[in-house]
Amino acid sequence: MNYCIILNALFNTEYAYRAFFDGSSAFSRALALARNFGKDVYMVLRRDAELPEGLPGDVRVVRADFSACGFADAVLEVFSDAGCDFVVLMFADSPFFSSKTAQEMIDQHVEFFADYSVAEGYPAGIVPEVLSLRAASAVRKLAEDFTEELRRSLLFDIIKKDINSFDIETLVSEHDVRLLRPSFFADCKRNFLVCQAFMGFFSPDMDAERFAAVVLKNMGLLRSVPAYYQIEVVRGCLQSCSYCPYPKFIDVLSTREFMPIERFSSIIEEIVSFSSDAVIGLSAFGELSLHPDVVKLLEIALSHKELSVLVETSGYGWDVSVLEKISSLDGSDRIKWIVSLDTLNENLYSVIRGDGFSDVMACIDVLKRLFGDNVFLQAVRLRETEDYLESFYRTLKEKQYNVIIQQYDSFCAMLPDKMVVDISPVRRFPCWHISRDMVVMIDGTVPVCKERFLTGPYAGNVFSDSLENIWKNIEKYWDMHLSENYPDYCLNCKEYFTFNF
Ligand code: SF4
Repeated sequence: MNYCIILNALFNTEYAYRAFFDGSSAFSRALALARNFGKDVYMVLRRDAELPEGLPGDVRVVRADFSACGFADAVLEVFSDAGCDFVVLMFADSPFFSSKTAQEMIDQHVEFFADYSVAEGYPAGIVPEVLSLRAASAVRKLAEDFTEELRRSLLFDIIKKDINSFDIETLVSEHDVRLLRPSFFADCKRNFLVCQAFMGFFSPDMDAERFAAVVLKNMGLLRSVPAYYQIEVVRGCLQSCSYCPYPKFIDVLSTREFMPIERFSSIIEEIVSFSSDAVIGLSAFGELSLHPDVVKLLEIALSHKELSVLVETSGYGWDVSVLEKISSLDGSDRIKWIVSLDTLNENLYSVIRGDGFSDVMACIDVLKRLFGDNVFLQAVRLRETEDYLESFYRTLKEKQYNVIIQQYDSFCAMLPDKMVVDISPVRRFPCWHISRDMVVMIDGTVPVCKERFLTGPYAGNVFSDSLENIWKNIEKYWDMHLSENYPDYCLNCKEYFTFNF
């Protein structure tokens, strides 16, 4: 049976072509690995993307729209041009593709007459997908109704729409690394640095199984630069919630402090320079609706295309005209809203959260109208709300709202234990938050993590230290976690396994 290789470059960013310390790039490595098969190589490139420099003449380029149909059309075009029986799909920005495991998948695909072959449990980026000609038209048809966000798993996401119609072969890793979410695509600074850190561990003749074992053994290298920054731009709140640690810190109902625009702007500049892309969380503990320059704050953050914003709010105190101004900002589709609602029972609401139930419900309608599916309604799972939780979820889902159920956080046992059910993993692993998050308080202080905002330890101050140094200072806690030498407060914390971004 004849096959060819598709290098999918639809997700390529400038980092695909950036040189690692040895002078190679993720793209040059992926291309070399693709050509090693001795088969025709096709590159699927976005219509507006420039041709990569030095692309060999025998690599055929297929232009595609960045959409499910665009991708499926490009695959069909390859089949028609190459006249092959199946295609092997790899990404054009993955430097560690395992040809050995790909060959194993190809053999299995042929032996079992599969429509589609996929691998599970391996680090993302090192194994291919295989698709047969007879399944390609079905994929194209299913792509027509595909409305979800386009992810790397696009082909499988399309196939999942009618999974029983496909003969699927799955290769499963003995070393399951999914929990660590390693992503060996050079598509952002964070992943580029991770790829570079693992460079010495990979050789082209290595199978994916061995590489997965290497990743598990060297998971410390998965920490590069932060992905999520929570910034306390407001100190103070309109509600004093029963499960929040903030009222233990300040009188939230009377304190009103605001981070000046210039200070916020300088932090944002530093974030872009240090992390490149990131999610900016506003406003850590304070209520964002109180900030007198809230529109400007969002405008500053959104002016950087690499950044997106997460607003966590009670939904109380928002002026409709302010929300309308925010929705008209360039890039407002990069704002996600989480409204902490907790319950639909007004009496319970006032016990748990305080005033404002009817204002909040009205605000939710406005947010939904202006921001659509970017609005999420959240309930913290508490003993007090447990009996109402199912109807909370069902009612809101019926009304087409996105719902988040969050686990109760005692902030390292600072608050009483109100956890309804403990879903901690059986075996502890190093904390996500010191690997990917940074919290900045209103005076610039950076606690080691959000849980420790009140008591420390602190890693520095963004107005006097560089983000790089502060992040380095947090690294020692990461190292302690790697060696399973956890500080006492971490042993009392159930947040280590919650993943933000
Ligand atoms: S385990 Fe909890 S207290 Fe420890 S670093 Fe992680 S989030 Fe912070």
